Amino acid sequence: MPTFKIAIVGAGPAGYFTAQAFQNAQTEELTFAIDMIERLPTPWGLVRSGVAPDHPKIKTVSKVFEKIAKVPNFRLFANVELGKDVSLKDLRDQYDAVVLSTGASKGRKLGIPGEELANSLSAADFVPWYNAHPDYVNTEVDLSCDTAVVIGAGNVAMDVARILAIDPTELDPTDVAEHALVKLKQSNIRTVIICGRRGPEHAAFTAPELRDLPKLENTDVYIDVKQVKDATERANIGGEIEKDLKHNLEAMKLIAEHAKKGVNRKLEIKFLSTPIEIKGNKKVEEVEFTINKIEAGKVLPTKDTFTIKTRLVITAIGYDAVEYPGITIENGRINNIAGHIEHNVYTTGWAKRGPTGVIGTNKSDSSDVVDLIIENLKEPKVSEGITTLLKSGHEVIDQLAWEKINASEVISGEIAGKPRVKEVDWKRLISLGRS
Ligand code: NAP
Repeated sequence: MPTFKIAIVGAGPAGYFTAQAFQNAQTEELTFAIDMIERLPTPWGLVRSGVAPDHPKIKTVSKVFEKIAKVPNFRLFANVELGKDVSLKDLRDQYDAVVLSTGASKGRKLGIPGEELANSLSAADFVPWYNAHPDYVNTEVDLSCDTAVVIGAGNVAMDVARILAIDPTELDPTDVAEHALVKLKQSNIRTVIICGRRGPEHAAFTAPELRDLPKLENTDVYIDVKQVKDATERANIGGEIEKDLKHNLEAMKLIAEHAKKGVNRKLEIKFLSTPIEIKGNKKVEEVEFTINKIEAGKVLPTKDTFTIKTRLVITAIGYDAVEYPGITIENGRINNIAGHIEHNVYTTGWAKRGPTGVIGTNKSDSSDVVDLIIENLKEPKVSEGITTLLKSGHEVIDQLAWEKINASEVISGEIAGKPRVKEVDWKRLISLGRS
């Protein structure tokens, strides 16, 4: 009975769903030994460091990950970095297939003047900061002004804006980073403005996330009702309107028309606004926008501009995959054809297809790539796998060590009335795993 050795790099949703697809494909004649390699001392990727703390339901997918990890053919090697602790070439030589599920963690740039000013941040730095990612504890976040601007009309922009706009006591029962909660409680921000460059009909928000906005207890949410009405008229030209778009526009209409509470926290979504310059002396002072119009389905700039006075700008305009020696990136994702990179190296998730789709999208996507890998498998290699590759004394966080970290965080959470209290210090995480 041949057992093929599979290395999956990246312990996020794409990595786990890749492992699950291999587990589901096992038969009496075909088995797999799966080693999951992760740079951080903790697994779960964006479920831990991306999903907003006030959306705990989305995080329950971690139960599926833990089930996958309990299958005897699965081993976790966290605290192991590709390119530093193991090379791609070594993995290729030792494993029958290597799958890079390394995500897309580099925030895209606007490419406008002033983007490098202090207090102009990428969501790629801000989101892991409030989610207790060990590498982002020291992100400089200045919440001293009363207005923040978030650029982009996608779900990440919405997460970022909501975290800034809600009453921080609403985050008390969540697993938000302790350092972020302290800072958010001192925040002077009372108005958050999301700016999308195109119309409401082009927004990348999804309807369930939009529908949650009017339910915010301590924040009034505004969208210009005329912008939504015009967008709906434009969308209706040419017959039947596509279902997701219809739901989005209905949800936006609901936001625009729902009775406001008269509270002092405000979240506004502004469309047809392209940022052209971030101005300030060393630090952000204002953002200038061009006002756009839509003609014959095209978004066009007008001569009109407006500025928003602010000392905090966060761009949430998508992500690019990170590079590794031997891997090329094109259009923000690893160069691949249907998940195949070269030889026995493959990719799944955001690294493969770019930063699109929700967590569940990775399930079918990974399954397709695993089918392709299985088709291409020949004779299993005789090799030792990762254990011969790591330097002696290298401290691996395996599944047992991770379970100790997990239990410790959950216990701290129980005491504090939260799902968990995340440890942010890399060394302390490792020592928790050792304890
Ligand atoms: P996204 O959905 O692709 O949205 C990116 C936004 O940035 C778009 O509105 C885009 O506008 C805008 N943008 C891009 N370049 C720009 C520029 N140069 N100037 C101004 N605006 C620009 O990306 P995301 O928000 O990072 O989300 C990534 C994925 O994660 C999405 O699939 C999202 O649904 C998912 N996600 C889901 C949840 C959830 O389910 N709760 C939460 C977070 C993220 P254009 O359309 O005009 O290009």
